[in-house]
Amino acid sequence: IPMSSVERVYSYSAVLMGSPILLKLFEDNQQAAQAVFHLIKQQEDMLTVNRAHSQLMTINHAAGLHPVVVSRPVFELISKAKTVSLMQDSCFNFTIGPLVKRWKIGFHGDTVPSPAEIQSLLPLTRPDQVMLDPQACSVYLAQAGMEIDLGAIAKGYIADRVRDLLQQMGIHQALINLGGNVLTLGTPRYGDQSAWGVGLKKPFAAPDALIGIIEVAGKSVVTSGIYERYFEQEGKIYHHILDPETGYPLDNELLSVTVISDDSVDGDIYTTLLYGMGVKKALHYLTTVPHIEAIFVTRTGQVILSSQRQFRFTLQDSDYQLA
Ligand code: ADP
Ligand code: MG
Ligand code: MG
Repeated sequence: IPMSSVERVYSYSAVLMGSPILLKLFEDNQQAAQAVFHLIKQQEDMLTVNRAHSQLMTINHAAGLHPVVVSRPVFELISKAKTVSLMQDSCFNFTIGPLVKRWKIGFHGDTVPSPAEIQSLLPLTRPDQVMLDPQACSVYLAQAGMEIDLGAIAKGYIADRVRDLLQQMGIHQALINLGGNVLTLGTPRYGDQSAWGVGLKKPFAAPDALIGIIEVAGKSVVTSGIYERYFEQEGKIYHHILDPETGYPLDNELLSVTVISDDSVDGDIYTTLLYGMGVKKALHYLTTVPHIEAIFVTRTGQVILSSQRQFRFTLQDSDYQLA
Protein backbone atom coordinates (compact mmCIF):
# COMPACT_ATOMS: atom_id res chain seq x y z
CA ILE A 1 0.00 0.00 0.00
CA PRO A 2 1.45 3.42 -0.86
CA MET A 3 2.09 5.51 2.26
CA SER A 4 -0.42 8.15 1.26
CA SER A 5 -3.34 5.73 1.51
CA VAL A 6 -2.40 4.56 5.02
CA GLU A 7 -4.44 6.45 7.55
CA ARG A 8 -2.88 7.13 10.92
CA VAL A 9 -4.32 5.25 13.86
CA TYR A 10 -4.56 7.04 17.19
CA SER A 11 -4.48 4.71 20.21
CA TYR A 12 -5.56 5.69 23.70
CA SER A 13 -5.20 3.46 26.73
CA ALA A 14 -6.12 3.32 30.38
CA VAL A 15 -6.42 0.70 33.12
CA LEU A 16 -10.03 0.35 34.23
CA MET A 17 -12.10 -2.56 35.58
CA GLY A 18 -8.80 -4.25 36.44
CA SER A 19 -7.95 -4.52 32.73
CA PRO A 20 -5.95 -2.58 30.18
CA ILE A 21 -8.45 -0.69 28.01
CA LEU A 22 -7.57 0.32 24.45
CA LEU A 23 -9.37 2.72 22.12
CA LYS A 24 -8.36 3.14 18.47
CA LEU A 25 -9.55 6.10 16.42
CA PHE A 26 -8.59 7.50 13.02
CA GLU A 27 -8.29 11.09 14.17
CA ASP A 28 -6.53 12.63 17.12
CA ASN A 29 -9.49 13.14 19.43
CA GLN A 30 -8.34 13.37 23.06
CA GLN A 31 -11.74 14.68 24.05
CA ALA A 32 -13.54 11.62 22.71
CA ALA A 33 -11.04 9.32 24.44
CA GLN A 34 -11.53 11.15 27.75
CA ALA A 35 -15.31 10.87 27.38
CA VAL A 36 -15.03 7.13 26.69
CA PHE A 37 -12.80 6.46 29.69
CA HIS A 38 -15.03 8.61 31.88
CA LEU A 39 -18.08 6.62 30.79
CA ILE A 40 -16.36 3.29 31.52
CA LYS A 41 -15.37 4.51 34.98
CA GLN A 42 -18.90 5.70 35.69
CA GLN A 43 -20.40 2.36 34.58
CA GLU A 44 -17.84 0.38 36.57
CA ASP A 45 -18.71 2.44 39.66
CA MET A 46 -22.34 1.28 39.30
CA LEU A 47 -21.79 -2.37 38.50
CA THR A 48 -18.70 -3.55 40.35
CA VAL A 49 -18.65 -6.01 43.24
CA ASN A 50 -14.95 -5.49 43.81
CA ARG A 51 -15.48 -2.46 46.01
CA ALA A 52 -17.49 -1.65 49.10
CA HIS A 53 -19.92 0.66 47.31
CA SER A 54 -21.84 0.50 44.04
CA GLN A 55 -25.51 0.17 43.11
CA LEU A 56 -24.90 -3.55 42.93
CA MET A 57 -23.28 -3.73 46.36
CA THR A 58 -26.20 -1.79 47.83
CA ILE A 59 -28.50 -4.57 46.57
CA ASN A 60 -26.16 -7.23 47.97
CA HIS A 61 -25.88 -5.55 51.37
CA ALA A 62 -29.70 -5.47 51.60
CA ALA A 63 -30.11 -9.22 50.89
CA GLY A 64 -32.84 -10.68 53.10
CA LEU A 65 -33.65 -7.19 54.41
CA HIS A 66 -35.34 -4.92 51.86
CA PRO A 67 -35.62 -4.02 48.16
CA VAL A 68 -33.22 -1.44 46.72
CA VAL A 69 -34.24 1.11 44.10
CA VAL A 70 -31.69 1.25 41.27
CA SER A 71 -31.30 3.22 38.04
CA ARG A 72 -33.33 2.00 35.07
CA PRO A 73 -30.29 0.75 33.10
CA VAL A 74 -29.04 -1.28 36.08
CA PHE A 75 -32.54 -2.70 36.55
CA GLU A 76 -32.73 -3.68 32.88
CA LEU A 77 -29.30 -5.34 32.98
CA ILE A 78 -30.25 -7.32 36.10
CA SER A 79 -33.53 -8.37 34.44
CA LYS A 80 -31.58 -9.63 31.44
CA ALA A 81 -29.14 -11.52 33.67
CA LYS A 82 -32.05 -13.10 35.54
CA THR A 83 -33.77 -14.21 32.34
CA VAL A 84 -30.59 -15.85 31.01
CA SER A 85 -29.85 -17.45 34.39
CA LEU A 86 -33.31 -19.05 34.46
CA MET A 87 -33.04 -20.55 30.97
CA GLN A 88 -33.17 -24.32 30.98
CA ASP A 89 -29.74 -25.93 31.63
CA SER A 90 -28.15 -22.48 31.73
CA CYS A 91 -24.69 -22.47 33.17
CA PHE A 92 -24.90 -18.68 33.41
CA ASN A 93 -25.96 -17.76 36.94
CA PHE A 94 -25.64 -14.18 38.13
CA THR A 95 -26.37 -15.13 41.74
CA ILE A 96 -23.05 -17.01 41.81
CA GLY A 97 -21.60 -14.14 43.91
CA PRO A 98 -21.10 -16.03 47.21
CA LEU A 99 -19.07 -18.71 45.42
CA VAL A 100 -17.07 -16.22 43.35
CA LYS A 101 -16.22 -14.35 46.53
CA ARG A 102 -15.17 -17.50 48.36
CA TRP A 103 -12.96 -18.80 45.53
CA LYS A 104 -11.38 -15.33 44.98
CA ILE A 105 -9.92 -16.68 41.74
CA GLY A 106 -7.28 -14.35 40.35
CA PHE A 107 -7.25 -12.30 43.54
CA HIS A 108 -4.98 -12.42 46.57
CA GLY A 109 -5.81 -15.34 48.86
CA ASP A 110 -7.41 -17.68 46.32
CA THR A 111 -7.66 -21.21 47.75
CA VAL A 112 -9.77 -24.30 47.08
CA PRO A 113 -12.80 -24.23 49.42
CA SER A 114 -13.71 -27.33 51.38
CA PRO A 115 -16.59 -29.41 49.95
CA ALA A 116 -18.64 -28.41 53.03
CA GLU A 117 -18.11 -24.71 52.29
CA ILE A 118 -19.23 -25.21 48.70
CA GLN A 119 -22.32 -27.11 49.81
CA SER A 120 -23.20 -24.32 52.23
CA LEU A 121 -22.93 -21.62 49.52
CA LEU A 122 -24.74 -23.42 46.66
CA PRO A 123 -28.24 -22.81 48.14
CA LEU A 124 -27.57 -19.06 47.93
CA THR A 125 -27.24 -19.17 44.12
CA ARG A 126 -30.93 -18.85 43.32
CA PRO A 127 -31.82 -16.56 40.38
CA ASP A 128 -35.52 -17.16 41.10
CA GLN A 129 -35.00 -15.52 44.50
CA VAL A 130 -34.08 -12.20 42.88
CA MET A 131 -37.29 -10.21 43.11
CA LEU A 132 -37.73 -7.53 40.47
CA ASP A 133 -40.30 -4.75 40.68
CA PRO A 134 -40.40 -2.86 37.37
CA GLN A 135 -42.77 -0.19 38.72
CA ALA A 136 -40.57 0.66 41.67
CA CYS A 137 -37.42 -0.16 39.64
CA SER A 138 -36.20 -2.12 42.64
CA VAL A 139 -34.30 -5.34 43.24
CA TYR A 140 -34.66 -7.55 46.31
CA LEU A 141 -32.54 -10.59 47.13
CA ALA A 142 -34.95 -12.71 49.12
CA GLN A 143 -32.38 -14.67 51.14
CA ALA A 144 -29.75 -13.23 53.46
CA GLY A 145 -26.26 -13.98 52.12
CA MET A 146 -27.28 -13.87 48.45
CA GLU A 147 -25.03 -11.82 46.17
CA ILE A 148 -25.39 -10.74 42.56
CA ASP A 149 -22.21 -10.79 40.44
CA LEU A 150 -22.36 -9.21 36.98
CA GLY A 151 -18.73 -10.06 36.15
CA ALA A 152 -19.77 -12.25 33.22
CA ILE A 153 -21.87 -9.54 31.55
CA ALA A 154 -20.71 -6.10 32.70
CA LYS A 155 -17.86 -5.61 30.24
CA GLY A 156 -20.12 -6.44 27.31
CA TYR A 157 -22.81 -4.10 28.55
CA ILE A 158 -20.27 -1.31 29.02
CA ALA A 159 -18.72 -1.93 25.58
CA ASP A 160 -22.16 -1.38 24.04
CA ARG A 161 -22.53 1.89 25.98
CA VAL A 162 -19.14 3.00 24.64
CA ARG A 163 -20.36 2.30 21.11
CA ASP A 164 -23.50 4.40 21.75
CA LEU A 165 -21.34 7.27 23.00
CA LEU A 166 -18.92 7.11 20.05
CA GLN A 167 -21.85 7.14 17.62
CA GLN A 168 -23.37 10.13 19.43
CA MET A 169 -20.05 11.92 18.94
CA GLY A 170 -20.19 11.17 15.22
CA ILE A 171 -17.45 8.53 15.31
CA HIS A 172 -18.34 5.55 13.14
CA GLN A 173 -14.96 3.85 12.67
CA ALA A 174 -13.26 2.75 15.88
CA LEU A 175 -12.17 -0.20 17.97
CA ILE A 176 -12.52 -0.56 21.71
CA ASN A 177 -10.88 -3.38 23.67
CA LEU A 178 -12.03 -3.85 27.25
CA GLY A 179 -9.70 -6.76 27.96
CA GLY A 180 -11.34 -9.79 26.36
CA ASN A 181 -14.24 -7.78 24.94
CA VAL A 182 -13.47 -6.18 21.58
CA LEU A 183 -16.08 -4.04 19.87
CA THR A 184 -15.51 -2.67 16.38
CA LEU A 185 -17.40 0.19 14.76
CA GLY A 186 -17.54 0.15 10.99
CA THR A 187 -14.43 -0.76 9.04
CA PRO A 188 -10.83 0.37 9.61
CA ARG A 189 -9.37 3.01 7.34
CA TYR A 190 -6.17 1.26 6.33
CA GLY A 191 -6.01 1.53 2.57
CA ASP A 192 -8.92 -0.48 1.22
CA GLN A 193 -9.16 -2.85 4.19
CA SER A 194 -12.73 -3.86 4.84
CA ALA A 195 -12.29 -5.64 8.18
CA TRP A 196 -10.59 -5.28 11.53
CA GLY A 197 -8.18 -8.00 12.61
CA VAL A 198 -8.78 -9.22 16.16
CA GLY A 199 -6.25 -11.66 17.59
CA LEU A 200 -7.38 -14.95 19.13
CA LYS A 201 -5.09 -15.49 22.11
CA LYS A 202 -3.05 -18.63 22.47
CA PRO A 203 -3.94 -20.19 25.84
CA PHE A 204 -1.22 -20.47 28.51
CA ALA A 205 1.36 -18.84 26.18
CA ALA A 206 3.06 -15.44 26.03
CA PRO A 207 0.54 -12.58 26.36
CA ASP A 208 0.94 -11.58 22.71
CA ALA A 209 0.95 -15.12 21.28
CA LEU A 210 -1.98 -15.77 18.92
CA ILE A 211 -3.69 -18.86 17.53
CA GLY A 212 -4.99 -16.81 14.64
CA ILE A 213 -6.79 -13.70 13.44
CA ILE A 214 -10.53 -13.03 13.46
CA GLU A 215 -11.65 -10.51 10.82
CA VAL A 216 -14.82 -8.53 11.50
CA ALA A 217 -16.45 -5.21 10.66
CA GLY A 218 -18.93 -3.51 12.98
CA LYS A 219 -19.11 -6.55 15.27
CA SER A 220 -18.33 -7.52 18.83
CA VAL A 221 -15.74 -10.22 19.54
CA VAL A 222 -15.78 -11.57 23.10
CA THR A 223 -13.48 -14.29 24.37
CA SER A 224 -13.80 -16.10 27.65
CA GLY A 225 -11.02 -18.48 28.50
CA ILE A 226 -9.94 -20.57 31.45
CA TYR A 227 -6.41 -19.14 31.04
CA GLU A 228 -7.53 -15.57 31.74
CA ARG A 229 -7.77 -15.80 35.51
CA TYR A 230 -6.83 -18.90 37.43
CA PHE A 231 -4.63 -20.33 40.14
CA GLU A 232 -2.86 -23.63 40.57
CA GLN A 233 -3.00 -25.82 43.63
CA GLU A 234 -1.36 -29.24 43.80
CA GLY A 235 -0.89 -29.30 40.03
CA LYS A 236 -4.55 -28.58 39.28
CA ILE A 237 -5.80 -25.43 37.57
CA TYR A 238 -8.78 -23.60 39.05
CA HIS A 239 -10.20 -20.95 36.70
CA HIS A 240 -12.82 -18.21 37.10
CA ILE A 241 -15.85 -19.61 35.27
CA LEU A 242 -17.78 -21.60 37.84
CA ASP A 243 -20.31 -24.35 37.25
CA PRO A 244 -23.41 -23.27 39.18
CA GLU A 245 -24.43 -26.92 39.57
CA THR A 246 -21.29 -28.05 41.36
CA GLY A 247 -19.77 -24.81 42.66
CA TYR A 248 -16.41 -25.78 41.10
CA PRO A 249 -14.76 -24.35 37.95
CA LEU A 250 -16.38 -25.70 34.77
CA ASP A 251 -14.57 -28.80 33.65
CA ASN A 252 -14.87 -29.81 30.01
CA GLU A 253 -12.85 -30.06 26.78
CA LEU A 254 -12.72 -26.27 26.26
CA LEU A 255 -9.90 -23.78 26.75
CA SER A 256 -11.79 -20.79 25.35
CA VAL A 257 -14.97 -19.72 23.64
CA THR A 258 -15.15 -16.64 21.41
CA VAL A 259 -18.48 -15.16 20.36
CA ILE A 260 -19.01 -12.88 17.36
CA SER A 261 -22.22 -10.86 17.54
CA ASP A 262 -23.64 -7.39 17.01
CA ASP A 263 -23.95 -6.53 20.68
CA SER A 264 -21.16 -7.17 23.12
CA VAL A 265 -23.57 -7.93 25.98
CA ASP A 266 -24.78 -10.92 23.93
CA GLY A 267 -21.19 -11.97 23.31
CA ASP A 268 -20.51 -11.84 27.03
CA ILE A 269 -23.61 -13.87 27.89
CA TYR A 270 -23.14 -16.45 25.15
CA THR A 271 -19.47 -17.13 25.90
CA THR A 272 -20.53 -18.36 29.34
CA LEU A 273 -23.63 -20.20 28.08
CA LEU A 274 -21.75 -21.98 25.27
CA TYR A 275 -18.85 -22.75 27.58
CA GLY A 276 -21.19 -24.65 29.84
CA MET A 277 -22.69 -26.61 26.93
CA GLY A 278 -19.42 -27.95 25.58
CA VAL A 279 -18.64 -28.04 21.83
CA LYS A 280 -21.17 -30.59 20.62
CA LYS A 281 -24.24 -29.13 22.30
CA ALA A 282 -23.08 -25.58 21.62
CA LEU A 283 -22.71 -26.14 17.85
CA HIS A 284 -26.18 -27.61 17.73
CA TYR A 285 -27.62 -24.78 19.83
CA LEU A 286 -25.98 -22.16 17.60
CA THR A 287 -28.03 -23.33 14.63
CA THR A 288 -31.06 -21.93 16.50
CA VAL A 289 -29.54 -18.46 17.11
CA PRO A 290 -28.28 -17.26 13.70
CA HIS A 291 -27.13 -13.85 15.00
CA ILE A 292 -24.58 -15.51 17.30
CA GLU A 293 -21.42 -17.17 15.92
CA ALA A 294 -18.54 -18.74 17.81
CA ILE A 295 -15.01 -20.11 17.83
CA PHE A 296 -14.13 -22.93 20.22
CA VAL A 297 -10.58 -23.83 21.27
CA THR A 298 -10.15 -27.25 22.87
CA ARG A 299 -7.55 -28.81 25.15
CA THR A 300 -6.52 -31.14 22.30
CA GLY A 301 -5.52 -28.22 20.07
CA GLN A 302 -8.62 -28.08 17.91
CA VAL A 303 -10.14 -24.81 16.69
CA ILE A 304 -13.81 -25.32 15.86
CA LEU A 305 -15.83 -22.71 13.97
CA SER A 306 -19.59 -22.25 13.79
CA SER A 307 -21.21 -20.72 10.71
CA GLN A 308 -19.10 -17.79 9.45
CA ARG A 309 -21.40 -15.13 8.07
CA GLN A 310 -20.10 -12.38 10.33
CA PHE A 311 -16.38 -13.19 10.52
CA ARG A 312 -13.38 -14.80 8.85
CA PHE A 313 -10.75 -16.76 10.71
CA THR A 314 -7.14 -17.37 9.71
CA LEU A 315 -5.11 -19.91 11.67
CA GLN A 316 -1.52 -18.87 12.40
CA ASP A 317 -0.17 -21.28 14.99
CA SER A 318 0.95 -24.80 14.12
CA ASP A 319 0.15 -26.12 17.61
CA TYR A 320 -3.53 -25.80 16.68
CA GLN A 321 -5.59 -27.32 13.85
CA LEU A 322 -8.88 -26.29 12.31
CA ALA A 323 -11.33 -29.08 13.02
P1 ADP B 1 -13.71 -12.07 32.06
O1 ADP B 1 -14.02 -11.28 30.85
O2 ADP B 1 -13.32 -11.23 33.24
O3 ADP B 1 -12.81 -13.23 31.82
P2 ADP B 1 -16.14 -13.60 31.87
O4 ADP B 1 -17.01 -12.81 30.99
O5 ADP B 1 -15.49 -14.81 31.34
O6 ADP B 1 -15.09 -12.64 32.56
O7 ADP B 1 -16.95 -13.99 33.18
C1 ADP B 1 -16.27 -14.51 34.31
C2 ADP B 1 -16.75 -13.82 35.56
O8 ADP B 1 -18.15 -14.03 35.70
C3 ADP B 1 -16.15 -14.36 36.84
O9 ADP B 1 -14.99 -13.67 37.19
C4 ADP B 1 -17.27 -14.18 37.85
O10 ADP B 1 -17.29 -12.85 38.33
C5 ADP B 1 -18.50 -14.41 37.03
N1 ADP B 1 -18.93 -15.82 36.93
C6 ADP B 1 -18.24 -16.96 37.18
N2 ADP B 1 -18.96 -18.05 36.91
C7 ADP B 1 -20.17 -17.61 36.45
C8 ADP B 1 -21.36 -18.25 36.00
N3 ADP B 1 -21.47 -19.57 35.96
N4 ADP B 1 -22.39 -17.46 35.62
C9 ADP B 1 -22.30 -16.12 35.64
N5 ADP B 1 -21.22 -15.45 36.07
C10 ADP B 1 -20.15 -16.18 36.45
MG1 MG C 1 -15.65 -11.40 29.67
MG1 MG D 1 -18.81 -13.13 29.87
